[in-house]
Amino acid sequence: MPSLIELRGVTKTYFVGGCRLDVLKGIDLTVEEGDFVAIMGPSGSGKSTLTQILGLLDRPTLGSYKLMGLDVSTLSDDEGAALRSRTIGFVFQMFNLLARTSARDNVALPMLYTGDPGREARSAEVLAEVGLADRMDHAPNQLSGGQQQRVAIARALVNKPKIIFADEPTGNLASAQAEEILLKLSDLNNAGITILMVTHESDIAAYAQRVIKIKDGVIVSDERNVSPRGGAGKNRHGGLSAGAAAPASIPPVRELSFEEFFEHVRSALRAICANKLRSALSMLGILIGVTAVIAMLAIGKGAQKSVETQLSSLGSNLVMLWPMSPRTGGGGARAAMGSFSRLAMDDVVAIRRAHPGIVRAAGEVSGSVQAVYGDKNTNTSLTGAEPEYADMRNAQAYYGRFFTAAENEKMARVVLLGPTVATALFGDGDPLGRSINVEHIKFKVIGVLPRKGSGGFQDQDDKILVPLKTAMKKLLGRQYLGTISIETMGPEQTDGVIEAVRALMRKSHRLPDYKEDDFTLRNMAEIQAALTGTSKIFSLLLGIVAAISLVVGGIGIMNIMLVSVSERTREIGLRKAIGATRRAVLLQFLVEAVAMSTCGGLLGIALGMAIAFGMSYFAGWAAIVTLQSVLLAFFFSAGTGIVFGFWPARKASLLSPIEALRYE
Ligand code: ADP
Ligand code: MG
Repeated sequence: MPSLIELRGVTKTYFVGGCRLDVLKGIDLTVEEGDFVAIMGPSGSGKSTLTQILGLLDRPTLGSYKLMGLDVSTLSDDEGAALRSRTIGFVFQMFNLLARTSARDNVALPMLYTGDPGREARSAEVLAEVGLADRMDHAPNQLSGGQQQRVAIARALVNKPKIIFADEPTGNLASAQAEEILLKLSDLNNAGITILMVTHESDIAAYAQRVIKIKDGVIVSDERNVSPRGGAGKNRHGGLSAGAAAPASIPPVRELSFEEFFEHVRSALRAICANKLRSALSMLGILIGVTAVIAMLAIGKGAQKSVETQLSSLGSNLVMLWPMSPRTGGGGARAAMGSFSRLAMDDVVAIRRAHPGIVRAAGEVSGSVQAVYGDKNTNTSLTGAEPEYADMRNAQAYYGRFFTAAENEKMARVVLLGPTVATALFGDGDPLGRSINVEHIKFKVIGVLPRKGSGGFQDQDDKILVPLKTAMKKLLGRQYLGTISIETMGPEQTDGVIEAVRALMRKSHRLPDYKEDDFTLRNMAEIQAALTGTSKIFSLLLGIVAAISLVVGGIGIMNIMLVSVSERTREIGLRKAIGATRRAVLLQFLVEAVAMSTCGGLLGIALGMAIAFGMSYFAGWAAIVTLQSVLLAFFFSAGTGIVFGFWPARKASLLSPIEALRYE
């Protein structure tokens, strides 16, 4: 049967700044199972380097190493990690416990990487074994140095190792506590565990059965201790015949388990909570970005909805004609040049005959008025229209009736109320047949208009409708029309109609060829297209804002993750030493980055919704938060965590365990 450890001609050479440094110069060493070996030597003689090679944390430059008969130079990093976690326990001078983590969780950590069940129970069991049954929930900073080292021993024991490597385990301890630890190690040796302990003090080496002295990278003496202190090996035969190890097999490299994943999520949340302010600041980028996107999407969606409402209330196949007046487009310059125009009822009559594709045409005026009923009054907008308005604009009375052509001719004082006005003046009461005062003139309410919905920035229902002639003569005192609306037979007629009306208007306004139109003709379909065009630009802008903010937020997270990786280099080294594979470390840090970015994303979603609803409540804007936008924001922020967390996580996973453990 093979020996537990067999080193042949092992050397280790470092190159620092072009200088060759031979730390180990050909070590031959055989250790049998059940031995308690002390490695002694002055500082810098290569003791730690040798232990790290023996503990599979490092590889020799030259020479062969067989652990339980297995040539470990053929192992991959992950196979090494798996073998380490099953057969080797480490105890370090600096204890290397995870801060803010209970003794129980510290001890259970190696089992996370082997995936063995019953972590809690097993960890309690070994803690009791080292005499810390009453300190399980203490964090390292609530324990004395000796107790911390006992937690570290419990951690080394939890996976039932064959060998424990202890590198100056008492270096940081007072002598009473040091003795406690050494007695514990002797006990473990008596229980059959091979111990390899590094020290530079001979009274500590006195606990071992075998003392090997190293100087400048070579073994200078190798002696047996006849009666070790603490009684190591007293239950067995000392010496080379102590036992031989069964040949090792490489444990399979484990697949990812849910338990491991949840443990990573837990430790990620713990790490985030441990640095609340820092995490909050790092999340800020993503938070602001997601907030902006959610709020803008909600408002944009609301605006789009109201545009649609407005358009649908206009009716289809409409062409609108506006005069070029000093008030409407064209600007003061043109008005000053006298090129403004007016529209009159004669124009409406002429237009009706201008093209066979025209179904009907009607004039309109509008203005703002005050409507009074009893002690209630409201400022609202007035539209004077012809009876055709009802069909052309989908504005049949919701209840009551529309006015007739006869009423228009005799300038009857009848009015239809928009729902908002009806509520403002009559509350829940029935307005039909009542008299209201519009600009001090009495009008009879004959109907209520259908609800069109709030059109974003303006309430489409806040209006009243009276016959055109009544409005022009009695209320607004105007001789000219504000708009002429023309209904065509179908979209294919629209261009022809527009050309015919343009020709007609130019002729009747006697415009010479070199002059521009003194009126505006608009096809509603065209307006619709223009509006969807703006919403496309809006989405594009939104996308750019989202992309920029996620990149900025992602960089914030990447930055803090890089800080976190370098801060926790020791932790990473420790995790690898106790059996974490590259993938496990990568996953741990990736989960942390994603947890941070998703927290930011979720807070951003909440804040964005609050802003959107706040705006719609106080400013009266429509805001619609869709499930899609929430999901989109969520997955994008999580994705940002993955993309920007990957590099720091990979950096962590590639750290070599010894570099990480030596890191100060
Ligand atoms: P000790 O016997 O005190 O534990 P070490 O094994 O830690 O000694 O180190 C032995 C020598 O190797 C020291 O001189 C140290 O400077 C050198 N050494 C250790 N690690 C490295 C490294 N990563 N690069 C270069 N030199 C190193
Ligand atoms: Mg050392």
